[in-house]
Amino acid sequence: MTIVCPRCDSSDCIIPAEQVFESAYIMYAACQSCMADPVLGKQTPFNRLFDGVDAIGGIDGIDGIDDVTMRCQSCGKRHLDVVVAHVLGILIREGLCNRQATLFDVGTPMITIGYQIPFPPRLGRDTLILIMNTIDKRTAEMIISEVPEVKGVIQRKGSLEHPIGILDTGSSPHIYDLLAGCDLRGDIVSSAFGELCIYKTQSDTHIEFSRGKSDKIQVLESLYYQRKLLGSVVDACCGAGTLGLVSVLAGAREVILNDAFLPAVKNTILNIRANASVLGLELEMHVNLSELPVVAGAPVLVATAHGSCDVSVYHGDLVRLAAVVERCDLCLIDAFIGVPTAGFAEAWKETARMVVTI
Ligand SMILES: [Zn+2]
Ligand SMILES: [Zn+2]
Repeated sequence: MTIVCPRCDSSDCIIPAEQVFESAYIMYAACQSCMADPVLGKQTPFNRLFDGVDAIGGIDGIDGIDDVTMRCQSCGKRHLDVVVAHVLGILIREGLCNRQATLFDVGTPMITIGYQIPFPPRLGRDTLILIMNTIDKRTAEMIISEVPEVKGVIQRKGSLEHPIGILDTGSSPHIYDLLAGCDLRGDIVSSAFGELCIYKTQSDTHIEFSRGKSDKIQVLESLYYQRKLLGSVVDACCGAGTLGLVSVLAGAREVILNDAFLPAVKNTILNIRANASVLGLELEMHVNLSELPVVAGAPVLVATAHGSCDVSVYHGDLVRLAAVVERCDLCLIDAFIGVPTAGFAEAWKETARMVVTI
């Protein structure tokens, strides 16, 4: 079964979750022929970056870096720092950075399948998405065509702290700009109930950096041990669908996923497809996604899935969803930090036996 990428329409972007779990542990590993980790200081100015590594690459200045620099002849991968240095060389060549710039200045590198890797990753083709501050569309396209490891280039908008998405249905979406390539990537989510691969179009999805198991998953595990995850669970602002789909894994009888932001609903549907065999679900679409508004008002039932659990996916305002759902055992409200949730909890007081804001 192939799944088409909602961003770039390619059928190579999305690997079914069970195949991701099989290959993830070697995806970023060095092979026996890979050279030792280069010592490239993240804060070292570019003009001194390769001072200590002449013996390996013999690199002198930006003209010396190209797509063969320090690439393993055997597995074809390169160390993350070498890839980022290649990108920095392009930024300097194009006048966006000076020669004092460091690897740190390039931006935030995100590997396309994220999990806790206990070593610096070695990258193959299309395995890195860059979130950059100093970048333009023309240079982003150069990076995509010259650096094989880079799959997508995103330009950050606003401050680091400003969350991506919508705060509530009254606010306009805050999203980053995808300048070139494709920004679809996945994160392996681990829980006591098993693992999922949660994909997301990264430029319009909030970035969560977690160390080990996420706090939110621990909240779900604690609810499970209190036998609160058995019945019907509503994931009221589901984002890419993580909490609702982990609830399916945990054995909930019914799960309702909802988000007011259309990209989140699309990612949730993609994640039901990509994790279909892990979850034991078969998806059925009820509306054409291209006909839905970016920010929802009245809830619309977008898709259902059946098998191990009865799943419904809605695109709607979470307060108005409370009137649509007849009764549920648990309502999870995972709003952005700083958004007052008292009104949301109040709206669900009649419908849900228990409301948990995460
Ligand atoms: Zn794609
Ligand atoms: Zn190698």
